[in-house]
Amino acid sequence: MNDIYVCMVRTSDNGAKGISCLVVEKDTPGLSFGAPEKKLGWNASPTAQVIFEDCRVPVANRVGAEGEGFRFAMAGLDGGRLNIGACSLGGAQRCLDEAIKYTKERQQFGQPVADFQNTQFMLADMATDLEAARALLYLAACKVAANAPDKSRFSAMAKRLATDNGSKIVNDALQLFGGYGYLKDYPIERFWRDLRVHSILEGTNQVMRMIVGRDLLRQ
Ligand SMILES: Cc1cc2nc3c(=O)[nH]c(=O)nc-3n(C[C@H](O)[C@H](O)[C@H](O)COP(=O)(O)OP(=O)(O)OC[C@H]3O[C@@H](n4cnc5c(N)ncnc54)[C@H](O)[C@@H]3O)c2cc1C
Repeated sequence: MNDIYVCMVRTSDNGAKGISCLVVEKDTPGLSFGAPEKKLGWNASPTAQVIFEDCRVPVANRVGAEGEGFRFAMAGLDGGRLNIGACSLGGAQRCLDEAIKYTKERQQFGQPVADFQNTQFMLADMATDLEAARALLYLAACKVAANAPDKSRFSAMAKRLATDNGSKIVNDALQLFGGYGYLKDYPIERFWRDLRVHSILEGTNQVMRMIVGRDLLRQ
């Protein structure tokens, strides 16, 4: 449980301009929580519904002016998308490292699995896709830091690429571990489950494509 909840709430019918940002403190009457959700992964981070029932919040708890909430939320999302993309890069790098180590150790047909050309081609594609995603994420981070006009498009592109590539790399690492990849005794399956949600969180990857497509057509 957190001490404060920063919430975007509807305060008028005026579309995106009718959303305001309120800080709700944890002891506010009417604030409660659903049961912890049972999830495929992300088990180190508890997830539960936050329920507001007739919560009364003083005007002093409003952040900024009335109607500014949507703008604040959008500004925060660029950074959030970079964070989620970076989590995928980290998970994918770990699984690539594990796959290199494992295929050098594991012997099949009288030789290390790493000696098969198929394995080397898979590892090469995994490393290439990872570096491409990392380079775009760093570029997007520079644009957010510089408040560039195209920072939201680049954040959406970087999040989409890093999370899709990340999940594919982890999936390929699991494949290279063979049957052991599917077992909880080995590290890969947890990353496979944990990275899956990154294509959904902070806006789904379909929504990322929508943001990029719309921005390209606006130019
Ligand atoms: C583990 C976990 C933790 C979370 N933590 C938080 C949190 O801390 N704070 C928070 O606010 N939320 C949180 N969420 C919610 C998360 O942000 C949403 O699940 C996510 O943004 C997708 O929204 P949705 O589930 O309503 O999907 P929906 O919007 O119902 O989407 C369903 C499908 O329709 C597609 N779709 C929807 N709209 C369009 C469109 N316009 N064009 C094309 N396709 C579309 C989606 O891409 C998706 O495939 C969490 C979710 C999970 C699983």
